[in-house]
Amino acid sequence: MKHDKLGLNTICTHTGELEDATFKGAVSPLYMSTSYAFENVDTKRYPRYFNTPNQEALSRKIAALEKTETALIFGSGMAAISTALLAYLKSGDHVVLQQMLYGGTYNFVTEQFQRYGISYTFVKGSEADDFEAAITPDTKVIYIETPSNPLLTITDMAAIGALAKKHDLVSMIDNTFASPVNQNPIEFGIDIVLHSATKYMGGHSDILAGAVACSEELMKPIYLTGRNLGGNLSDYTVWLLERSLKTMGIRVKAQNENAMKMAEYLDRHNSVSTVYYPGLSSHPGHQLAKKQMKGYGGMLSFDLDESCDPEKFRDSLKLIKPSMSLAGIESTLLSPAKTSHALLPQEERVNQGISSRLIRFSLGIEDIEDLKADIEQAIKASKTEMAVNSK
Ligand SMILES: *Cc1c(COP(=O)(O)O)cnc(C)c1O
Repeated sequence: MKHDKLGLNTICTHTGELEDATFKGAVSPLYMSTSYAFENVDTKRYPRYFNTPNQEALSRKIAALEKTETALIFGSGMAAISTALLAYLKSGDHVVLQQMLYGGTYNFVTEQFQRYGISYTFVKGSEADDFEAAITPDTKVIYIETPSNPLLTITDMAAIGALAKKHDLVSMIDNTFASPVNQNPIEFGIDIVLHSATKYMGGHSDILAGAVACSEELMKPIYLTGRNLGGNLSDYTVWLLERSLKTMGIRVKAQNENAMKMAEYLDRHNSVSTVYYPGLSSHPGHQLAKKQMKGYGGMLSFDLDESCDPEKFRDSLKLIKPSMSLAGIESTLLSPAKTSHALLPQEERVNQGISSRLIRFSLGIEDIEDLKADIEQAIKASKTEMAVNSK
């Protein structure tokens, strides 16, 4: 069966699965061996070579989900991201990156690249022209993230893909926020797709994993670098991730729907000054998102207005958990200024539009009316004395 012709939920459920020939069980058997019979140098199996039966099965599923030829599974999103970047950058090279990046990626670049003699430029805007202006004769890679964290800005994937081709560069995207359900960057000309599978792919806040998906040809250096760096995922977790992916299509669809309803509700709310969600027609990236996304995703952000105390708001929530991570089936939220972006200098944070009143919200699959009720009561409880007295 041609797997690229199958629908999303069929790929999620079946593609890549291993047959249980002995017992005819319904799911892929788990092979935990780290030692396999030696056949010859080309076919020896070893977990760090990305070629155990369960790793290969999961790779087939993820490649099909991202509509490309192959995928590799890593022990974390950062293992996938760092391996892919180091595979394509060496001493003397330069990389152009979007400024609004996942904090761990930003730290990897700013804390490590100088030691390897790799130079970099962060691009403030999200237009292709902004990226082109940063390209130097040494540039080898363009790196983007869309929708971005935490303001959900949208970068034009087709324009970046074309720009990379024009200058003979490799383009990479962190597709974690969208997940393969909402966005397939390969279809828009991006070369290499990166994921923190800890988020929507895992989906239950209990797996740390990462993935890279691209053509066989572009994967060659990533495979070699990955084998040397050794950021692989143990087969037990590979198997759990395969199980999680079976429900990714329906999970993410439910999260998209909840996020859209929550965005509309917050947008109408008196105590909320701005809502950042690409599904709202007021969002600056809405038209672009409509063109390149199949769903607008389960993440949104909003600014509480002056009448609310953000700390009281967070402390008053009963159902929604204040939490560092995102994309689980349970709704979570956080204040980027206090958590994910706390290490940025205050000036840089404000520069990026991240105020102390900003809340980043990861929608789960709960009933939307219960989520709205929790937000409503927490906003009421968060009203500052001053605001109450002046009424
Ligand atoms: C969480 C995350 C990462 C890093 O993934 P880990 O699995 O924590 O290593 C990278 N990019 C984005 C957008 C993320 O949300």
